[in-house]
Amino acid sequence: MKIAIASGKGGTGKSTVVANLAFSLAERQPLAVVDCDVEEPNLHLFFPSPSEDLPVMVQIPEIDTTRCTHCGACGEFCRYGALTIFKDRHLFLPELCHSCGGCEIVCPVGAINEIGRQIGIVQIRKPTSGLTLITGVLQEGEVQAPPVIRMAKDQAEGHPLILYDASPGIACPVIETLDGVDFCIFVTEPTPFGIHDLTLALGVTKELGIPSGVVINRSDGDDGIVRDFCAEHSLPVLMTIPFDRTIAAIQNKGNLIARELPEWRERFIELFNSVKRVGKGLQ
Ligand code: SF4
Ligand code: SF4
Repeated sequence: MKIAIASGKGGTGKSTVVANLAFSLAERQPLAVVDCDVEEPNLHLFFPSPSEDLPVMVQIPEIDTTRCTHCGACGEFCRYGALTIFKDRHLFLPELCHSCGGCEIVCPVGAINEIGRQIGIVQIRKPTSGLTLITGVLQEGEVQAPPVIRMAKDQAEGHPLILYDASPGIACPVIETLDGVDFCIFVTEPTPFGIHDLTLALGVTKELGIPSGVVINRSDGDDGIVRDFCAEHSLPVLMTIPFDRTIAAIQNKGNLIARELPEWRERFIELFNSVKRVGKGLQ
């Protein structure tokens, strides 16, 4: 089973929910957790342990200047503006290249070859016997998050249960993360801003046909705004985490409530059971 945990915006406590859920489940069954927030991964901070690092490579063009006739066909083809051909030279901006391979195909004289270029790493950790933590890290200055997310997800394949921590928002990295998942948990706050972003995120999962449910975080007891929204959209509320001094104190120290307070371990296991119930047929 593959479950993504997402939020329409940052700062909702999404990664904390993922970490607590992973910690709680790992005592009962083996699972992999993939940090797909590759621009700012932080799940590993909850599970300090050594990592095995794998490079993430993409293919980029290399022009053989001895063969190039400066016809301009490759530059005209590149819709990303990565390649510009002048009369006597060319300009290639590797950060803009999306590795589509089109320029190599259109070159009439075979002057373009592909070479590998590293854009990030994937880190694999085993902090406990039941937990495999896979972290995608996009190199600073790079913009191509999807290849890093794809490789991080590939490393988790084969695990019977996989959790994906999606990046905030609804841009390409989130779509890549949601590809192939069975269920999506949205973590939201009971505020108008939270509802606004939840509306956008729900639009994405509906479009992709992914069933979803909601965790209300930092609830002050007045969750009407979220519950009304969920009722209107037939979205199950799977769990509520209160705005509570004890919880805040634990989390502010970078600890997990599931680790410090055993009753929360049970609640996160119940969250997983709710996903299975709501997701009908998920195992
Ligand atoms: S591989 Fe694609 S994106 Fe990259 S330079 Fe060539 S045409 Fe542009
Ligand atoms: S298409 Fe080939 S020959 Fe034409 S400018 Fe590009 S590299 Fe040079």
